[in-house]
Amino acid sequence: MKKTLLRQLPKVDYLINHDEIQKMIDDYPRKIVLKMINETLDEIRKNILSELLTEAVDEKIIIDTINNKVANYLSFSLKRVINGTGVIIHTNLGRSIINYETSQHTSSINNGYSNLEFDIESGKRGLRYTHIEKVLMDLTGAEGALVVNNNAAAVMLVLNTVAKDKEAIVSRGELVEIGGSFRVPEVMKISGGTLIEVGTTNKTHLKDFENNINDNTGAILKVHTSNYKILGFTKEVPVEDLVALGKEKNIPVVLDLGSGTLIDLTKYGLSVEPTVLEQVGKGIDIITFSGDKLLGGPQAGIIVGKKKYIDAIKKNQLTRALRVGKMTISALESTLRYYFDEKKAIEEIPTLRMIAETYDSVNERANKLLKYFDNKDIRIIDGESQVGGGTFPLDVIPSALIEINSTKFSASQISSKLRNLEVPIIARISENRILLDVRTLQENDFEYIVSSINNILE
Ligand SMILES: *Cc1c(COP(=O)(O)O)cnc(C)c1O
Repeated sequence: MKKTLLRQLPKVDYLINHDEIQKMIDDYPRKIVLKMINETLDEIRKNILSELLTEAVDEKIIIDTINNKVANYLSFSLKRVINGTGVIIHTNLGRSIINYETSQHTSSINNGYSNLEFDIESGKRGLRYTHIEKVLMDLTGAEGALVVNNNAAAVMLVLNTVAKDKEAIVSRGELVEIGGSFRVPEVMKISGGTLIEVGTTNKTHLKDFENNINDNTGAILKVHTSNYKILGFTKEVPVEDLVALGKEKNIPVVLDLGSGTLIDLTKYGLSVEPTVLEQVGKGIDIITFSGDKLLGGPQAGIIVGKKKYIDAIKKNQLTRALRVGKMTISALESTLRYYFDEKKAIEEIPTLRMIAETYDSVNERANKLLKYFDNKDIRIIDGESQVGGGTFPLDVIPSALIEINSTKFSASQISSKLRNLEVPIIARISENRILLDVRTLQENDFEYIVSSINNILE
């Protein structure tokens, strides 16, 4: 039986000469088509041998399978998706998105040569960091600035510069893990310094720091706890006290701010979070933060601080290994310029626009979207969005959501169909309903969202 089935399978040569396959070879690389013919036949053979398949396979099915495999193989792996989760800075979905103007600028820099490391005035060699140093200094009030691959790299580089073969003191309450891959103790180890943990999880006093300072202390480190909060019987040492202590003992105070905002977001209903400008004003020596969290720019790690430390970091050989490319620099420069006018920043930087959008405005957009649907399984409900990216873990933003409540398909079936679209739509599932938070949906995707969902529910 198995032998008969195996014998009946079409031969590779036969398939290659088949009209349908020849058409594929006209459109796609021959090598890939051949690879997928072999892969398909191998799979069928395996299934026959394991008796998963006990009937002959139709030739048309074989050819369709090959066709699908080829198309799949050649489609982009990294692609655009539609974020219906309501998590604005969604680390799995690429964190912050940049606006059209910034994308256009970045692509024009990439399509041609640029003055990345060329000083136009003197005609001599320039430095890539000059393009963003001044704007960062102006916006944060710092004496110097530098940009590297991401904030994890920034922290590692800073500690390697000031605390290599030395000790860095940190509060036990701040030994955080962020996103499953950034852990302060591990980063410290790689930087070549020794972490001195002081205080307890919920309480740390200034004297805990004072008592642990010695001749070999390289830094006082403060880490923003980002994605969690210790509530109740707690005490942390104010940054101002750490700065005073650092000044007295001539030891730099380093602050890993994580997200780092340039704008006071309490106006938009979020908890108090000092801006980078305010933190610099407190006299902290070195501050690091991400480019793609609240800043709303590309992936980057931004370091601002006192000139003497920024100069030392620039000279560190590690900086060369962690440097950013022209895509990052152009996107960051373009994003940062909006911040000269706060109103413009809120309007033009998508992350900020989504955070600041009022409930009424989201609800109005939800109603616009609902009008296109011709389906009683769909309605608008109230819900909550989150900032995400480990920022404001306790804050929620009231929002309007599209709810799909199908009698024909389960929520997980619909969710899977939505994920398998050409531009995948990532939804939230709650109590067997599909939810799309309109806050993180972009208006120019509305038509696509409606036609895709109508198709799925048919
Ligand atoms: C997010 C975060 C990091 C890591 O930043 P990346 O830009 O993702 O490398 C480090 N420290 C804190 C406190 C954070 O919130």
